[in-house]
Amino acid sequence: MEKRRKGTTIFLINQILWTTITNKMQKVRAKKSLGQHFLKDLGVAQKIAETINPVITDTRFPVLEIGPGMGVLTQFLLQNPAISLTAIELDRESVAYLKEWYPELNLIEGDFLKLDLNNVFPSGQFGVIGNYPYNISSQIFFKVLEYKDRIPVCSGMIQKEVAERIASKPGKKAYGILSVLLQAWYDIEYLFTVDENVFNPPPKVKSAVVRLRRNSRQSLGCDERLFKTVVKTAFNQRRKQLRNSLHELISDEAKVESYLTKRPEQLSVEEFINLTKLLEPCQN
Ligand code: SAH
Repeated sequence: MEKRRKGTTIFLINQILWTTITNKMQKVRAKKSLGQHFLKDLGVAQKIAETINPVITDTRFPVLEIGPGMGVLTQFLLQNPAISLTAIELDRESVAYLKEWYPELNLIEGDFLKLDLNNVFPSGQFGVIGNYPYNISSQIFFKVLEYKDRIPVCSGMIQKEVAERIASKPGKKAYGILSVLLQAWYDIEYLFTVDENVFNPPPKVKSAVVRLRRNSRQSLGCDERLFKTVVKTAFNQRRKQLRNSLHELISDEAKVESYLTKRPEQLSVEEFINLTKLLEPCQN
């Protein structure tokens, strides 16, 4: 009991110090174009930083933080001895701030979307974490997919709506391209919802924290490029039956008969894979 009270007191002092410091200090001016909404609640920041813990087993496991901003998550990640942290930040003002306050941080100034991850992590596995810039969250996930065999875990905060989309099961309105492409390779957990008033400035949307863990799939057993094309083409006309939306990809209707009258949201990941397998020979 005594111990817990001490922990709470220390935490409260930290929160007060953090608020005072970030209020007094030359703060980074939030820029809309960079999706900057700085988290001001240390409790939430700590919870997000801990989302990666259950997946990392090694000590000094390489982790990349995308968009550290003023370092609210970074401070907890740096304290974690199981993590070897690298961060990438696009905003020059944030970079100057981080260099001053976290000189020990291995920081890259640049755009995550343009970053060659093979340069940063020449071999082995690495995790990805962040309170992500919401304007590019889908693109971040597409990039994670490109490195799926090297990224066993990706967790962090995104718009609630995107979180619902990627975690959605078939049959739901939110089920779409990102759900299928990500769930083919990752198990996705919707961890918790975050209110807009813990940010400065508050975003217009609600937020949520998710965790993607690489599943055991080694290959799709079908052409991966065709799989992506099938998923994207089907969902681009999501109200249509597959017979119509995929007609350019179907050369022999008899082979895919059971799929023809379905709509994309009715198909599980496995069914999309099977459908692709059936379409494959038709491509040659
Ligand atoms: N993690 C911080 C900031 C979140 S706001 C916090 O929780 O308070 C998103 C951050 O991503 C901003 O700092 C923004 O400058 C940065 N950012 C935006 N686009 C980026 C990109 N393409 N690559 C790297 N960082 C980016």
